[in-house]
Amino acid sequence: MPAQENTSDTAGPVPFIDLVAQYQTIRGDVREAVDQVFECQSFVLGDEVSALESQIADYCDARYAVGCASGTDALILSLLAVGVSPGDEVITSTFTFFATASAIHRLGARPVFVDIEPNSFNLCPEQVEQALTRKTRAILPVHLFGQCAEMEPLWRLSARHKIPVVEDACQAIGAQYRGRSAGVLGTVGCFSFFPTKNLGGAGDGGMIVTDDAEIASRLRRLRVHGDVGGYNHVEVGFNSRLDALQAAVLKVKLGSLDQWSDARRNNAKLYHELFRELNLRCAVEAPPTLPDRRHVYNQFTIRVRGGRRDEVMTSLRNANIGCAVYYPIPLHMQTCFEYLGYGEGDFPEAERACQEVLSLPIYAEVPDEHQRRVVAGLTDAVRSGSTITFPDSSDTDRRAA
Ligand SMILES: *Cc1c(COP(=O)(O)O)cnc(C)c1O
Repeated sequence: MPAQENTSDTAGPVPFIDLVAQYQTIRGDVREAVDQVFECQSFVLGDEVSALESQIADYCDARYAVGCASGTDALILSLLAVGVSPGDEVITSTFTFFATASAIHRLGARPVFVDIEPNSFNLCPEQVEQALTRKTRAILPVHLFGQCAEMEPLWRLSARHKIPVVEDACQAIGAQYRGRSAGVLGTVGCFSFFPTKNLGGAGDGGMIVTDDAEIASRLRRLRVHGDVGGYNHVEVGFNSRLDALQAAVLKVKLGSLDQWSDARRNNAKLYHELFRELNLRCAVEAPPTLPDRRHVYNQFTIRVRGGRRDEVMTSLRNANIGCAVYYPIPLHMQTCFEYLGYGEGDFPEAERACQEVLSLPIYAEVPDEHQRRVVAGLTDAVRSGSTITFPDSSDTDRRAA
């Protein structure tokens, strides 16, 4: 009903994400925190970073947290710290951001891809088991779009084969699986503070959490060239340190993270209601709810069936409505990974997802009216008959609330 009229021509653009809207709610505190760093002139690591590390450790219920320069570096440092070396294999999802696999490649190890489960977009545990070899040195699940991967089967594999699990939780800070936080569901967990992540800094940044004291201290030296103090380099590491300015901003924002995650979940709920209410002519089919999860919706990602995703995306963009495709090409089909020998058809669910996915505005401050215009735009775009499915985790949210 309300979505029949398309008001997008007169009402201005609907941005995919609006970081200014969030900044306006915390401007005073951010500027004060940044000023303090300038007054101290201590810009790299130091007290600000230590304070953020202990706050993130508390937030996730981890024993240790180690700041670094980016989420990508968090992955590289973590894989190295759990013992991945050249020639080893690391099993991961083919449907993820590039950095998940490039981190493996950078260490001279081999990314071994597995397909995804269509209802969650996360890696399929049965295929992880099938992909295990004597060279497997780590399992690298990704909590894609803000929802945790199925961890229990990975825990069993990890224990039976003594293989560490490194979580790519870059999109999932604050997400939970069976009441435990993303980041502490494996041996080591990696976060990114890229500005568009749920906890975003004023530039690049990353963090690693773990309960393992030895891994934590190895991470601390790896980020400073392997220096254990006094220019005593016990191994060759990296320059991958977190800036005090980033830590200062992130400390302010961490205080609002749960509130923002709640807002994202409410926005998701509104999309569900609008889809249901509209009863689109094209069938709207909700994938099964994943139990025991707290979703933090870094993305709200629907599927457009019938080979019409690009057409629907163009139609939304023409109506000035922001949307995006995460991700258009699975990693096993990236040019740079041709040497791995995969081909089209190897991971059909990931390949289909790449053809069908479309992410809609879900940032915490997105106005209801914008969401209505998104759904109106979608209705216009699909009126001639393709099928949209959307994530339905309302039950899960209620349970985990
Ligand atoms: C953002 C992201 C990364 C990399 O984080 P950066 O901070 O940009 O280096 C890695 N993996 C996933 C799944 C991500 O979304």
